[in-house]
Amino acid sequence: MNKDFTVKFWGVRGSYPTPGASTVKYGGNTACVEVNAGGRIIILDAGTGIIPLGRELAKRQDLELLILLSHLHHDHTQGFPFFVPAYIPRARLHIYGPGGTAETVEHVLEHNQSSDTFPISLRDMASNKDIQSLRETQVILWDEDGVRVHESSPSPSPEAVVIRIHKSYAHPGGVYHYRIEYQGKSVVYATDTEGYAGTDRKLVNFSRNADVLIHDAQYSDDHYYGCLAGFSSTQGYGHSTAAMAGQVAASAETGELILFHHDPSYADDWVAAQERAAKNIFPDSRAAFEGMEVSLNPSPVLGRGAEVREGLQYAAYG
Ligand SMILES: [Zn+2]
Ligand SMILES: [Zn+2]
Repeated sequence: MNKDFTVKFWGVRGSYPTPGASTVKYGGNTACVEVNAGGRIIILDAGTGIIPLGRELAKRQDLELLILLSHLHHDHTQGFPFFVPAYIPRARLHIYGPGGTAETVEHVLEHNQSSDTFPISLRDMASNKDIQSLRETQVILWDEDGVRVHESSPSPSPEAVVIRIHKSYAHPGGVYHYRIEYQGKSVVYATDTEGYAGTDRKLVNFSRNADVLIHDAQYSDDHYYGCLAGFSSTQGYGHSTAAMAGQVAASAETGELILFHHDPSYADDWVAAQERAAKNIFPDSRAAFEGMEVSLNPSPVLGRGAEVREGLQYAAYG
């Protein structure tokens, strides 16, 4: 069986899409990340990045897909009405996210495609859909028997993908962060979250020793604190600075930090400056760009995953 564990970025921008010459390096689509764990496709958020991803996935014969929504703000759901697999009868979509009731995710997606706002209703998309609002304590398991939601910690088989949830209040309305584990490796997706004084300790614990941490880094320090000409302070908006992201990665002793949810007003050179700011705190940092791929496999050259991992951590703190 294919045991590859990879992450690919299809949309890295926050708030709204930003096409144009000043954003070609990092890309202008809103949030969407594809995780491939042994051939099982997990899609993190349904911003406009899910549209080109959908065109690729539609070529696959196996179309069982798990879509995890961090929350239900526009920039995390606006691509879904244009997601081609949702119109394919053989596709089976598991769509999970947060919500006050078990039906919240379904109601929001229905509302996004009500007859007043969109020509095709959610119900008229031909795919088979399993839509649920999950609780923080639930655990998602994807193994030989398919995708299931458990009420507590399951005993997974070695082939299973295990996904845990961290519910954060550091974003207006709340947000879910996800930790995806497969074959002893892990990636944490923590977008739309604002750092706390002294670092977000709950998120640090949730991210502990993850191999890859994808973290919100929407603002520069100057912007966040209201010192940037023409911009007011963004404190309390529910997004982090690159420094806050670096502090979480350093405290949690993660592997690579990937800065995500770039501010839509930031041109490519501004995003590059965000990367430099994060590196000052956590050297193993990079700004996400559309098309970027990260492998969580052991290095095929060295063939020593754990030692490679230690090497990276040494470099990060050396
Ligand atoms: Zn967002
Ligand atoms: Zn949001």
